[in-house]
Amino acid sequence: MNVLILAAHDGQHIDPTTAHIVGAASRLASGGAVHLLVLGHRCATVADQAAGLPGVAQVLLVDDAAYATPNAETIARQLAALGRDYQWLVAAHDLRARAALPRTAALLEAAYLSDVIGVDADSLRRPIYAGAAISHLQSTARTTCLTLRTSAFAPVRDSAAADAVIVQIPAVPADTRTQLVGRDVATSHRPDLGRARIVVAGGRGVGSAASMALVEKLADHLGAAVGASRAAVDAGFAANAVQVGQTGKTVAPDVYIALGISGAIQHLAGIKDAKCIVAINKDPDAPIFQVADLGFVGDLFEALPALQAGLPTAN
Ligand SMILES: Cc1cc2nc3c(=O)[nH]c(=O)nc-3n(C[C@H](O)[C@H](O)[C@H](O)COP(=O)(O)OP(=O)(O)OC[C@H]3O[C@@H](n4cnc5c(N)ncnc54)[C@H](O)[C@@H]3O)c2cc1C
Repeated sequence: MNVLILAAHDGQHIDPTTAHIVGAASRLASGGAVHLLVLGHRCATVADQAAGLPGVAQVLLVDDAAYATPNAETIARQLAALGRDYQWLVAAHDLRARAALPRTAALLEAAYLSDVIGVDADSLRRPIYAGAAISHLQSTARTTCLTLRTSAFAPVRDSAAADAVIVQIPAVPADTRTQLVGRDVATSHRPDLGRARIVVAGGRGVGSAASMALVEKLADHLGAAVGASRAAVDAGFAANAVQVGQTGKTVAPDVYIALGISGAIQHLAGIKDAKCIVAINKDPDAPIFQVADLGFVGDLFEALPALQAGLPTAN
């Protein structure tokens, strides 16, 4: 079974999630070849980094000005042009792949499975009903496009011996019907929510945008990212970009601190991979306590200063 991975990168550096995808791809390949596709412009250094990932036999490099910021349709065209040689076309479950891989599947008349969290010998696992149930699936399609939840897979470890062949291949013509004309990027001095080791999140119980500053203060004290429930976002306490949950971000930190968050199923869907959940809530029956590793029943405004005083700073 040959596998082609679509690499995520910023033009200079390969995204660390790619090492997780390679880990999963080796299981999918079960003895077949794992190839990695780097699409971009002036991105030869990314291809070099990709070639150093253990388990990758070949890196396919498309280096073309039209691929500097390729849209989903262009990525799909390129993947579809290569796809017939592979049983699995795989990428991280990020915004880009979520747009490109269904289009690839349509072009190839292939199958598409999203947000896969497990690769077993005879089936794939993916969450359904906001993570309340796990479905086990087999694909009988000739080619299957998959997006993987990278936090669910262990990364391959660097190996000096790894040195895949890099093959430059021609770009298929870009689909120019839609073009990226600008980006408004929210900048933050805090770690990226999706990759942070510690997340401090506030819910409706925080009460106001002004009080959310206390949540942010604790986050900065710990060098953590800030998250929020949808209720907190809807109430204007926090920006949309930091919503955690089914319709927000999926996080996988070592520690997730939930402040004034009830623990609705849609919120829990986003924190399933958190290693340790700490909850502060004044309602002892709040569902968050059913999943929390450490829970404190009480007023968050009383608990927060004591918590902050007792925890070491990030530096
Ligand atoms: C289709 C769909 C998708 C959704 N997607 C998401 C999603 O992605 N993310 C998400 O979060 N939600 C999502 N929701 C909404 C979800 O169902 C809940 O409404 C939401 O998560 C509730 O947020 P909350 O816990 O902050 O608020 P609440 O449920 O109102 O809970 C507030 C909590 O704060 C506690 N509290 C109040 N004051 C204090 C205090 N002073 N000290 C300590 N504790 C206090 C209360 O006891 C309570 O438990 C979605 C819903 C739907 C239908």
